[in-house]
Amino acid sequence: MIVDNFAVLIILLLGLSIGSFLNVVILRVHAESSLLGSSACPSCKKPIAWYDNIPLFSYLFLLGKCRNCKKPISWQYPAVEGSTALLTLVAFFFLQSRVEYDPTRLSFWLDYATVFCTVAIFVALFVYDLRYMLVPDIILFPGAGIVAVLSVLSSPSMLQVLHLIYGILVYSGFLGFIAVVTKGRGMGWGDVKLGILLGLFLGFPLSIYGLVLAFWLGAIVSIFFLVKRKKGMKDMLPFAPFLISGCLLVWFFQEPILKLFGSGGLFY
Ligand SMILES: [Zn+2]
Repeated sequence: MIVDNFAVLIILLLGLSIGSFLNVVILRVHAESSLLGSSACPSCKKPIAWYDNIPLFSYLFLLGKCRNCKKPISWQYPAVEGSTALLTLVAFFFLQSRVEYDPTRLSFWLDYATVFCTVAIFVALFVYDLRYMLVPDIILFPGAGIVAVLSVLSSPSMLQVLHLIYGILVYSGFLGFIAVVTKGRGMGWGDVKLGILLGLFLGFPLSIYGLVLAFWLGAIVSIFFLVKRKKGMKDMLPFAPFLISGCLLVWFFQEPILKLFGSGGLFY
Protein backbone atom coordinates (compact mmCIF):
# COMPACT_ATOMS: atom_id res chain seq x y z
CA MET A 1 0.00 0.00 0.00
CA ILE A 2 2.84 2.40 0.89
CA VAL A 3 4.52 1.44 -2.40
CA ASP A 4 1.23 2.18 -4.17
CA ASN A 5 0.95 5.66 -2.63
CA PHE A 6 4.56 6.33 -3.51
CA ALA A 7 3.94 5.30 -7.13
CA VAL A 8 0.90 7.59 -7.31
CA LEU A 9 2.91 10.53 -5.95
CA ILE A 10 5.74 9.95 -8.44
CA ILE A 11 3.28 9.64 -11.34
CA LEU A 12 1.51 12.85 -10.27
CA LEU A 13 4.76 14.82 -10.07
CA LEU A 14 5.96 13.34 -13.35
CA GLY A 15 2.64 14.18 -15.06
CA LEU A 16 2.81 17.80 -13.87
CA SER A 17 6.44 18.18 -14.98
CA ILE A 18 5.83 16.62 -18.39
CA GLY A 19 2.72 18.84 -18.75
CA SER A 20 4.90 21.87 -18.05
CA PHE A 21 7.40 20.67 -20.67
CA LEU A 22 4.55 20.17 -23.18
CA ASN A 23 3.58 23.85 -22.82
CA VAL A 24 7.12 24.77 -23.79
CA VAL A 25 7.02 22.30 -26.73
CA ILE A 26 3.69 23.69 -28.02
CA LEU A 27 4.81 27.33 -27.93
CA ARG A 28 8.35 26.81 -29.18
CA VAL A 29 7.43 24.43 -32.00
CA HIS A 30 5.00 27.09 -33.21
CA ALA A 31 7.56 29.89 -32.80
CA GLU A 32 10.21 27.58 -34.33
CA SER A 33 12.57 28.39 -31.48
CA SER A 34 14.87 26.09 -29.48
CA LEU A 35 13.47 23.87 -26.74
CA LEU A 36 16.48 24.79 -24.60
CA GLY A 37 16.86 28.07 -22.76
CA SER A 38 14.86 29.51 -19.90
CA SER A 39 11.26 30.74 -20.09
CA ALA A 40 10.35 34.41 -20.13
CA CYS A 41 7.05 36.27 -19.75
CA PRO A 42 5.58 36.76 -23.27
CA SER A 43 4.41 40.28 -22.30
CA CYS A 44 7.30 41.90 -20.44
CA LYS A 45 10.03 39.41 -21.54
CA LYS A 46 11.36 39.15 -17.98
CA PRO A 47 12.85 35.69 -17.33
CA ILE A 48 10.67 33.56 -15.06
CA ALA A 49 12.30 32.51 -11.78
CA TRP A 50 12.21 28.79 -10.88
CA TYR A 51 9.83 29.43 -7.97
CA ASP A 52 7.36 31.06 -10.38
CA ASN A 53 7.66 28.11 -12.78
CA ILE A 54 6.32 25.29 -10.58
CA PRO A 55 3.63 23.44 -12.53
CA LEU A 56 0.06 24.33 -11.54
CA PHE A 57 1.05 25.77 -8.14
CA SER A 58 2.80 28.90 -9.43
CA TYR A 59 -0.25 29.78 -11.54
CA LEU A 60 -2.51 29.48 -8.49
CA PHE A 61 -0.07 31.27 -6.21
CA LEU A 62 0.39 34.17 -8.66
CA LEU A 63 -3.42 34.27 -9.23
CA GLY A 64 -2.82 33.84 -12.97
CA LYS A 65 -0.75 37.05 -13.35
CA CYS A 66 2.91 37.71 -14.17
CA ARG A 67 4.80 38.71 -11.00
CA ASN A 68 6.55 41.56 -12.84
CA CYS A 69 4.04 43.12 -15.27
CA LYS A 70 0.78 41.71 -13.81
CA LYS A 71 -0.45 40.74 -17.30
CA PRO A 72 -2.63 37.59 -17.21
CA ILE A 73 -0.84 34.28 -17.83
CA SER A 74 -2.60 32.09 -20.43
CA TRP A 75 -4.83 29.47 -18.81
CA GLN A 76 -3.35 27.02 -21.31
CA TYR A 77 -0.42 26.52 -18.91
CA PRO A 78 -2.32 25.15 -15.90
CA ALA A 79 -4.83 23.39 -18.20
CA VAL A 80 -2.11 21.41 -20.00
CA GLU A 81 -0.24 20.66 -16.74
CA GLY A 82 -3.40 19.63 -14.90
CA SER A 83 -4.84 17.49 -17.70
CA THR A 84 -1.54 15.69 -18.37
CA ALA A 85 -1.23 14.84 -14.67
CA LEU A 86 -4.89 13.84 -14.35
CA LEU A 87 -5.04 11.70 -17.50
CA THR A 88 -1.78 9.85 -16.83
CA LEU A 89 -2.87 9.15 -13.25
CA VAL A 90 -6.34 7.94 -14.27
CA ALA A 91 -4.68 5.77 -16.94
CA PHE A 92 -2.52 4.21 -14.21
CA PHE A 93 -5.61 3.25 -12.17
CA PHE A 94 -7.38 1.86 -15.24
CA LEU A 95 -4.36 -0.22 -16.24
CA GLN A 96 -3.90 -1.46 -12.68
CA SER A 97 -7.54 -2.54 -12.48
CA ARG A 98 -7.30 -4.74 -15.60
CA VAL A 99 -7.35 -8.37 -14.61
CA GLU A 100 -4.43 -9.47 -16.73
CA TYR A 101 -2.08 -6.88 -15.24
CA ASP A 102 0.27 -7.31 -12.32
CA PRO A 103 2.08 -4.13 -11.16
CA THR A 104 4.94 -6.21 -9.76
CA ARG A 105 5.97 -7.21 -13.30
CA LEU A 106 8.11 -5.25 -15.72
CA SER A 107 5.59 -5.73 -18.54
CA PHE A 108 3.05 -3.70 -16.55
CA TRP A 109 5.43 -0.76 -16.34
CA LEU A 110 6.39 -1.03 -20.02
CA ASP A 111 2.69 -0.93 -20.84
CA TYR A 112 2.22 2.04 -18.56
CA ALA A 113 5.19 3.84 -20.13
CA THR A 114 3.51 3.36 -23.54
CA VAL A 115 0.25 4.81 -22.23
CA PHE A 116 1.99 7.66 -20.40
CA CYS A 117 3.93 8.75 -23.50
CA THR A 118 0.87 8.45 -25.74
CA VAL A 119 -1.30 10.51 -23.39
CA ALA A 120 1.38 13.23 -23.14
CA ILE A 121 1.73 13.41 -26.95
CA PHE A 122 -2.07 13.45 -27.26
CA VAL A 123 -2.34 16.46 -24.93
CA ALA A 124 0.29 18.37 -26.96
CA LEU A 125 -1.36 17.54 -30.33
CA PHE A 126 -4.87 18.26 -29.02
CA VAL A 127 -3.91 21.76 -27.85
CA TYR A 128 -1.74 22.43 -30.89
CA ASP A 129 -4.50 21.58 -33.37
CA LEU A 130 -7.05 23.58 -31.35
CA ARG A 131 -4.77 26.65 -31.34
CA TYR A 132 -3.13 26.49 -34.75
CA MET A 133 -5.32 24.06 -36.81
CA LEU A 134 -2.29 21.89 -37.54
CA VAL A 135 -0.88 18.52 -36.49
CA PRO A 136 2.88 19.20 -36.38
CA ASP A 137 5.09 16.41 -37.82
CA ILE A 138 7.89 17.34 -35.43
CA ILE A 139 5.78 16.24 -32.44
CA LEU A 140 3.83 13.46 -34.19
CA PHE A 141 6.57 11.37 -35.83
CA PRO A 142 9.09 11.18 -32.96
CA GLY A 143 6.09 10.51 -30.68
CA ALA A 144 4.76 7.70 -32.87
CA GLY A 145 8.29 6.22 -33.03
CA ILE A 146 8.60 6.13 -29.22
CA VAL A 147 5.12 4.61 -28.83
CA ALA A 148 5.83 1.96 -31.50
CA VAL A 149 9.06 0.84 -29.79
CA LEU A 150 7.45 0.77 -26.32
CA SER A 151 4.37 -1.13 -27.60
CA VAL A 152 6.49 -3.85 -29.17
CA LEU A 153 8.81 -4.06 -26.12
CA SER A 154 5.84 -4.43 -23.78
CA SER A 155 4.68 -7.58 -25.58
CA PRO A 156 7.26 -8.64 -28.16
CA SER A 157 5.46 -10.93 -30.60
CA MET A 158 4.50 -11.08 -34.25
CA LEU A 159 0.86 -10.94 -33.17
CA GLN A 160 1.48 -7.61 -31.42
CA VAL A 161 3.18 -6.19 -34.51
CA LEU A 162 0.23 -7.26 -36.70
CA HIS A 163 -2.19 -5.86 -34.12
CA LEU A 164 -0.47 -2.45 -34.39
CA ILE A 165 -0.24 -2.53 -38.20
CA TYR A 166 -3.95 -3.35 -38.50
CA GLY A 167 -4.72 -0.47 -36.12
CA ILE A 168 -2.75 1.98 -38.28
CA LEU A 169 -4.39 0.64 -41.45
CA VAL A 170 -7.86 1.18 -39.96
CA TYR A 171 -7.20 4.77 -38.89
CA SER A 172 -4.90 6.10 -41.61
CA GLY A 173 -6.57 3.97 -44.29
CA PHE A 174 -10.03 5.32 -43.61
CA LEU A 175 -8.99 8.94 -42.97
CA GLY A 176 -6.72 8.80 -46.03
CA PHE A 177 -9.60 7.52 -48.15
CA ILE A 178 -11.74 10.53 -47.11
CA ALA A 179 -8.83 12.89 -47.74
CA VAL A 180 -8.31 11.49 -51.26
CA VAL A 181 -12.01 11.47 -52.17
CA THR A 182 -12.60 15.04 -50.90
CA LYS A 183 -9.18 16.24 -52.17
CA GLY A 184 -8.07 17.17 -48.64
CA ARG A 185 -11.12 19.32 -47.86
CA GLY A 186 -13.08 16.79 -45.83
CA MET A 187 -10.02 15.55 -43.95
CA GLY A 188 -6.61 17.12 -43.52
CA TRP A 189 -3.43 15.14 -44.22
CA GLY A 190 -2.34 15.94 -40.67
CA ASP A 191 -5.26 13.83 -39.45
CA VAL A 192 -4.25 10.97 -41.78
CA LYS A 193 -0.72 11.06 -40.29
CA LEU A 194 -2.16 11.29 -36.77
CA GLY A 195 -3.89 7.97 -37.58
CA ILE A 196 -0.49 6.26 -37.23
CA LEU A 197 -0.24 7.20 -33.55
CA LEU A 198 -3.92 6.46 -32.87
CA GLY A 199 -3.70 3.05 -34.55
CA LEU A 200 -0.53 2.20 -32.64
CA PHE A 201 -2.24 3.04 -29.37
CA LEU A 202 -5.48 1.13 -29.90
CA GLY A 203 -4.41 -1.66 -32.24
CA PHE A 204 -7.05 -3.91 -33.73
CA PRO A 205 -10.07 -4.10 -33.45
CA LEU A 206 -10.33 -1.18 -30.96
CA SER A 207 -9.23 1.26 -33.69
CA ILE A 208 -12.55 0.76 -35.47
CA TYR A 209 -14.46 1.84 -32.35
CA GLY A 210 -12.11 4.79 -31.80
CA LEU A 211 -12.69 5.98 -35.35
CA VAL A 212 -16.48 5.65 -35.12
CA LEU A 213 -16.56 7.49 -31.79
CA ALA A 214 -14.44 10.36 -33.19
CA PHE A 215 -16.99 10.94 -35.97
CA TRP A 216 -19.87 10.85 -33.49
CA LEU A 217 -18.14 13.34 -31.20
CA GLY A 218 -17.35 15.55 -34.20
CA ALA A 219 -20.98 15.43 -35.38
CA ILE A 220 -22.39 16.25 -31.93
CA VAL A 221 -20.06 19.23 -31.41
CA SER A 222 -20.65 20.50 -34.99
CA ILE A 223 -24.41 20.41 -34.47
CA PHE A 224 -23.95 22.29 -31.19
CA PHE A 225 -21.95 25.02 -32.96
CA LEU A 226 -24.45 25.20 -35.83
CA VAL A 227 -27.38 25.61 -33.44
CA LYS A 228 -25.48 28.25 -31.47
CA ARG A 229 -24.50 29.81 -34.83
CA LYS A 230 -20.98 30.21 -33.57
CA LYS A 231 -19.49 28.72 -36.68
CA GLY A 232 -21.00 28.49 -40.15
CA MET A 233 -21.10 25.39 -42.34
CA LYS A 234 -18.00 26.64 -44.14
CA ASP A 235 -15.87 27.02 -41.01
CA MET A 236 -13.70 24.05 -40.25
CA LEU A 237 -13.43 22.57 -36.81
CA PRO A 238 -10.04 21.00 -36.15
CA PHE A 239 -10.60 17.23 -36.22
CA ALA A 240 -7.58 16.01 -34.24
CA PRO A 241 -9.19 16.82 -30.84
CA PHE A 242 -12.12 14.51 -31.76
CA LEU A 243 -9.84 11.75 -33.03
CA ILE A 244 -7.77 11.97 -29.84
CA SER A 245 -10.80 12.11 -27.50
CA GLY A 246 -12.44 9.14 -29.23
CA CYS A 247 -9.22 7.15 -29.09
CA LEU A 248 -8.65 7.85 -25.38
CA LEU A 249 -12.26 7.08 -24.42
CA VAL A 250 -12.11 3.75 -26.24
CA TRP A 251 -8.81 2.90 -24.52
CA PHE A 252 -10.28 3.70 -21.08
CA PHE A 253 -13.51 1.78 -21.66
CA GLN A 254 -12.19 -1.04 -23.86
CA GLU A 255 -13.54 -3.89 -21.71
CA PRO A 256 -17.22 -2.84 -21.78
CA ILE A 257 -16.89 -1.88 -25.48
CA LEU A 258 -15.42 -5.25 -26.48
CA LYS A 259 -18.00 -7.05 -24.36
CA LEU A 260 -20.81 -5.14 -26.03
CA PHE A 261 -19.62 -5.18 -29.65
CA GLY A 262 -17.31 -8.17 -29.81
CA SER A 263 -13.56 -8.47 -30.06
CA GLY A 264 -13.27 -9.19 -33.78
CA GLY A 265 -11.90 -12.66 -33.04
CA LEU A 266 -12.59 -13.64 -36.65
CA PHE A 267 -9.53 -11.69 -37.77
CA TYR A 268 -7.04 -13.72 -35.74
ZN1 LIG B 1 5.36 39.88 -17.44
